[in-house]
Amino acid sequence: MTVNTDYLKEQRGQEWRVELRKKIKNKDRLTIERVKMPEMDPMERIKYQDKEVNLGLTLDAAMREASRCMDCANPTCIEGCPVSINIPKFVKNIERGEILDAASTLKETSALPAVCGRVCPQEKQCEARCFYVEKMKKDPVAIGYLERFAADYERESGSMSIPNVEDANGVKVATIGSGPAALSFAGDMVKLGYDVTVFEALHEIGGVLKYGIPEFRLPNSIVDVELDNLRKMGVKFETNFVVGRTASVEDLEEQGFKAFFVGSGAGLPRFMNIPGENYNGIMSSNEYLTRVNLMNAADDSYDTPVLKGKNVAVIGGGNTAMDSVRTAKRLGAERAMIIYRRSLEEMPARVEEVKHAMEEGIEFINLHNPVEYFANENGRVNKMKVQRMELGEPDASGRRRPVALDEYVELDVDLVVVAVGVSPNPLIPSCMPDLEVSRWGTIEVNEDKMQTSIPQLFAGGDIVRGGATVILAMGDGRKAAESMHGFLKEKYNL
Ligand SMILES: Cc1cc2nc3c(=O)[nH]c(=O)nc-3n(C[C@H](O)[C@H](O)[C@H](O)COP(=O)(O)OP(=O)(O)OC[C@H]3O[C@@H](n4cnc5c(N)ncnc54)[C@H](O)[C@@H]3O)c2cc1C
Ligand code: SF4
Repeated sequence: MTVNTDYLKEQRGQEWRVELRKKIKNKDRLTIERVKMPEMDPMERIKYQDKEVNLGLTLDAAMREASRCMDCANPTCIEGCPVSINIPKFVKNIERGEILDAASTLKETSALPAVCGRVCPQEKQCEARCFYVEKMKKDPVAIGYLERFAADYERESGSMSIPNVEDANGVKVATIGSGPAALSFAGDMVKLGYDVTVFEALHEIGGVLKYGIPEFRLPNSIVDVELDNLRKMGVKFETNFVVGRTASVEDLEEQGFKAFFVGSGAGLPRFMNIPGENYNGIMSSNEYLTRVNLMNAADDSYDTPVLKGKNVAVIGGGNTAMDSVRTAKRLGAERAMIIYRRSLEEMPARVEEVKHAMEEGIEFINLHNPVEYFANENGRVNKMKVQRMELGEPDASGRRRPVALDEYVELDVDLVVVAVGVSPNPLIPSCMPDLEVSRWGTIEVNEDKMQTSIPQLFAGGDIVRGGATVILAMGDGRKAAESMHGFLKEKYNL
């Protein structure tokens, strides 16, 4: 997304921004220490699947943190944000105590600010590009915490603002899937006056935000409020609707839909294909987390079954692995372990999730890789063999490659959750032969426009990138909305 710098300069020149900059000298701003996020005590929080670990900033703490921001003339932080949030404008609104204005600034470019404030890897994005990091080698402004603060404050104030929506143009468009890519696309298209319907295969809207990320990180009620905003803007939602089964894209075209955004995600679990992986008690992180998050298996009043292990091994080092192992701990595991083939430094999970997992007593068995599982007489896994690894030269991902050593360890386990990556959902490509896909099954798009080989079909998020992040999915949705609007304007003379 291109950042319009004239617009930013003009806003930075507004009287209130100039006055605010004068109020505190830059050298004094630099002496303020970065705020710490208040958290629930680790031994208390592991008793609850649905209580959030991070408790959020107070108004005072947020205003103080916002006053660290220099309101830079060249706000590099915005370049680090895939949806180009006007960061200095929202942060300066917090500094002056106009929190509702901060929240509406967020909503100018982000359909899900309360979600992003909780799950984005800010340390790799906006915060990594903050002046404090780039020029001063200090801790960045806590942009993520402030984003969460503004969105929560607005919600709790009861005066949620709804972005302006242009007059209806009567053109019907649809999304396939309801994850962050589709929701962000839907928000932008409805603002432009389109008649938008979101089709979702599951019984809940939200994609991974609902079925993957646990409530102790992202409460479902937070996602629901953001969905409600979209509903109020006019977006329609259809659940239990599998495009390609319930109706095909062609059927929907016959019903008047003129263009589609495919945001069907990467929900197909990968396994390692090692001996014994089919034993009972070994499952994918998708299955495990969906049972708990979407089907309430942790709640005894629901009849969804879920295996509760005493010795649980989770294979992998990403967010999914952290979410699974912390869920296992909350479901009563005595020993909850991460088995990861590289070292802590290479782990793709958010730094905060790794820190939280460690505080909660999760064991990290790094530089080890599973090679075989064993089972008892009932076919239930009871042991696994892991091979020691060491780090070699960097591979294509830039991370040091794990190299196997001839040393093995056996571990007692009664539940194994495999979180070693996901593949794109294959249904849409399989029923549309003219749709170009890569050899990994991701949908090919023109990266500037997110347009596929079928002109009226755009795509983005994990179905294009493989497993990525919420904010990259949202950035794709926004880009696709902008170019689909251009395509439809030209085609239908809008
Ligand atoms: C457990 C877990 C934790 C994660 N944690 C983080 C994190 O902390 N931070 C972060 O940035 N990212 C995280 N991610 C990654 C992030 O959630 C994904 O990159 C993001 O959700 C991708 O969004 P999406 O819109 O492309 O697809 P998804 O969120 O996968 O949504 C796709 C939706 O499409 C639906 N669908 C599929 N096919 C059809 C069809 N034919 N018809 C109708 N509907 C269909 C699916 O049911 C699904 O609901 C995590 C992922 C997982 C699994
Ligand atoms: S780079 Fe950092 S200090 Fe500068 S405007 Fe952005 S958040 Fe504020």
